[in-house]
Amino acid sequence: GVVDDQPVQNGQNLRSPICCIMGHVDAGKTKLLDCIRGTRVQEGEAGGITQQIGATYFPAENIRERTKELKADAKLNVPGLLVIDTPGHESFTKLRSRGSGLCDLAILVVDLMHGLEPQTIESLNLLKSGNTDFVIALNKVDRLYGWETYPNAPIRKAIRQQSKDVMIEFNMRLTQVITQFKEQGLNTELYYKNKEMGETYNIVPTSAISGEGIPDLLLLLVQWAQKTMIKRLTYSEKVQCTILEVKVDEGHGTTIDVVLVNGVLHEGDQIVVGGMQGPIVTSIRALLTPHPMREFRVKGTYLHHKEIKAAQCIKIAAQGLDHAIPGASLYVVGSNDDIEVIGKSTMAYVHKVMSRTDKS
Ligand code: GDP
Repeated sequence: GVVDDQPVQNGQNLRSPICCIMGHVDAGKTKLLDCIRGTRVQEGEAGGITQQIGATYFPAENIRERTKELKADAKLNVPGLLVIDTPGHESFTKLRSRGSGLCDLAILVVDLMHGLEPQTIESLNLLKSGNTDFVIALNKVDRLYGWETYPNAPIRKAIRQQSKDVMIEFNMRLTQVITQFKEQGLNTELYYKNKEMGETYNIVPTSAISGEGIPDLLLLLVQWAQKTMIKRLTYSEKVQCTILEVKVDEGHGTTIDVVLVNGVLHEGDQIVVGGMQGPIVTSIRALLTPHPMREFRVKGTYLHHKEIKAAQCIKIAAQGLDHAIPGASLYVVGSNDDIEVIGKSTMAYVHKVMSRTDKS
């Protein structure tokens, strides 16, 4: 049925920061996502987490609950955190990083046992060129020989309780990774030792299996965003929206999954999206999101929304979307807009982004 379950915006009227996960294959991107959205769900404490299309939404309340052991007294001014499930969207990531700057910040996952790998460096270069701020998750700490597990514990607490040998190996591997980053021209440091935040990138040791360091990672992301991106995160009415995927959906035909970065979309809005054979002009037939997690078994059905406010991931059903291009922008046609002009600028942008992608 039609629901209106949009998070209430706070006094400052900030939107949720959008975060993506990058790194070498097998570094643990998928597992880390599973871990940050999954642990509490299994314990029946889903606390409003919703897995959306290609993204997971964490309400601020949930983040506060999960980070309370850090005694951060976290004043969370953003409504939540939207984490994009990039592992499945590699090509999109490429396209995105050359243009629209969709993500506000990123998690760069590095395998503690392997250090920097070819795709770590590739990701690093994408982040640099997109000017995207990021936090390094130094993952798989549980693989240190003799590591004692403290599920979902803040990382300092977990490290403090390890044997001397484990600490020695940890420090040795950490130093190696810091040196490797230095070779890439980047200063990095454990986040709780970092006195030059902004110039020196933060490292958060994590285990995606047992959850150590996950509270630290969540809190750091949100606090960092709040501290340095107020202007960027201030909600604006101007729609900023990017296509993540084009999918045929049973019952809805060809749909587009989009990330709504800013503004609000309504059922019935006339839209223009970039298409393979020119601009596509259509109108939104349905705005869809999956059911909240506990209702996941209700397969193939979605919640319908009359309107949705940023930042969210949404499935849009509309006619004529067959040739829509992932990575292209979506525009909403206003009453004073010239559709032809919008169409032209949409395509100019698509061509610009595509040609840059081809060269890489
Ligand atoms: P991705 O390719 O970056 O998405 O990596 P995956 O999340 O698929 O993880 C690759 C492999 O590493 C899987 O077998 C995971 O179970 C394992 N893995 C991921 N994170 C951890 C971790 O923190 N500790 C351990 N021991 N294994 C991990």
